[in-house]
Amino acid sequence: MSSERSWPVRSTTDSEGRAGDFYCSPGCGGNCTWEAYQRCVIASEILARELGEGWTTEIHENIGWFWSVISPCGRLNVCPSYQYLAKSPKLLGYHVSLGVPGHTSSRWGRGKTAKIAITDVLNRTRAEVNELVVLMQGLR
Ligand SMILES: [Zn+2]
Repeated sequence: MSSERSWPVRSTTDSEGRAGDFYCSPGCGGNCTWEAYQRCVIASEILARELGEGWTTEIHENIGWFWSVISPCGRLNVCPSYQYLAKSPKLLGYHVSLGVPGHTSSRWGRGKTAKIAITDVLNRTRAEVNELVVLMQGLR
């Protein structure tokens, strides 16, 4: 996904008295910062590179900036889990969904690393498939 946006970075003070560079779409209203956006761009690019060729990044805004990394086939979506108690977010681990590209999935895995989370969703899905095979056997 392109990191190009159609609205400018505003250097200002927000309604809560926070000074800085704000980068927030007109429809968001979350006073999202340029720093948070850049943090998402960098973190997503690092993970995409770590996971290998063909993985792509996705940055999205929803009262804050968020990111995920998408597998070359589009079926795995890896998202970080952060704890926001301190000024800078602390990475707790990752969530991975497995599903049809562009659709919400109910198959999830998680882990301390992205690779562990990917293995988790694949193992959970295999277990689900095996359970369905057993369920379908001997139907009358
Ligand atoms: Zn925003």
